[in-house]
Amino acid sequence: MTAKKTSAKLADGRDLFYFDDADSQLPADRKADARNLDARPAVAEMRLDALSGDWISVAASRHGRAFLPPASECPLCPSTDTFLSEVPDRFDVAVFENKNPSFGPDLAEVDDKNYWVEPNLPLGLTKPSIGRCEVVVFSPEHEGSLASQSETRIRTILDALADRTDAIMRMPGVRTVFPFENRGQEIGVTLHHPHGQIYAYPYVTPTQEKVFASISRHGQSLFQDILEFEQGSERELIRGEHFTAFVPFAARWPIEVSILPHRHVQNLTDLSGDELAELTSVYSRVLRAVDAIYETPTPYVAGWHQAPNFDGGENFRLQFKLTSPRRAADKLKFLAGSESAMGAFIADFPPETTAARLREVL
Ligand SMILES: [Zn+2]
Repeated sequence: MTAKKTSAKLADGRDLFYFDDADSQLPADRKADARNLDARPAVAEMRLDALSGDWISVAASRHGRAFLPPASECPLCPSTDTFLSEVPDRFDVAVFENKNPSFGPDLAEVDDKNYWVEPNLPLGLTKPSIGRCEVVVFSPEHEGSLASQSETRIRTILDALADRTDAIMRMPGVRTVFPFENRGQEIGVTLHHPHGQIYAYPYVTPTQEKVFASISRHGQSLFQDILEFEQGSERELIRGEHFTAFVPFAARWPIEVSILPHRHVQNLTDLSGDELAELTSVYSRVLRAVDAIYETPTPYVAGWHQAPNFDGGENFRLQFKLTSPRRAADKLKFLAGSESAMGAFIADFPPETTAARLREVL
């Protein structure tokens, strides 16, 4: 890790971590949280949907969240003399536990891998929605985006995500750690300040269950075969020494980009220093290209798909995936009947067209 990490606590006991850039001028000591905060909410409940087998978390305490606050009242800006935010002092990158988590704050008492497994799908079943949710603040600046950060800062962010993945994956009851970014008011972002989140789920997610099924159908070489199939195709965007970025053969969204490592690694924690250095550059180029297609910023969802801590997880490979519903300067793709009810996607144009547009601005 090139970043420098400092651990602290917020007034209600939540964890806070500062990750300073390698060349940061920030002092080592940070101010304490001077707020009086209410006790943390009780752990939410999750319900089993017997029809799909999916767990649905019911997060009752999330409605009081700040909605698009101005910079002077932004909970993610560094605290000032007149406003105490979630981060008590100056920072480069800050990570803290979510005040109203969808998973957690409770963890399991013992790490039972099958906590979420219900082979007979009983009706009316609920369980505590244990796990962990953290907020990752990409910059002390209220304006800007992840793509506008320097490569030094993006490396600090990747270091922070790898560090948190390592720590959270060891917490009892956690099966999956998913760092992600929702970008753009159009897709429901409630804070403009550049930030991402980390969700740690107590189960293998529905998306991962489908990958498990695909590996069992295709074989353990699935990720390597996809990588080799996309390399050199019309959809390839960047091929480095350690990573390849491409638009997937069967992309669902108007803009969709994957980055796969050439080595079979399960999560960000497994990457070497050389790999992280190249990933910083590839990740940064992809984000900037997505923003360069149109004159205004493009909304997207981007995340690091990592292997679940579950039987067979070693066959998963780390994958970055970015999807955007933007299909024209002023048009978004909405999930209509076929997609939202049947899960059956109709792509608006061929993935090769998306790849050609992205290559023009890389
Ligand atoms: Zn802010």
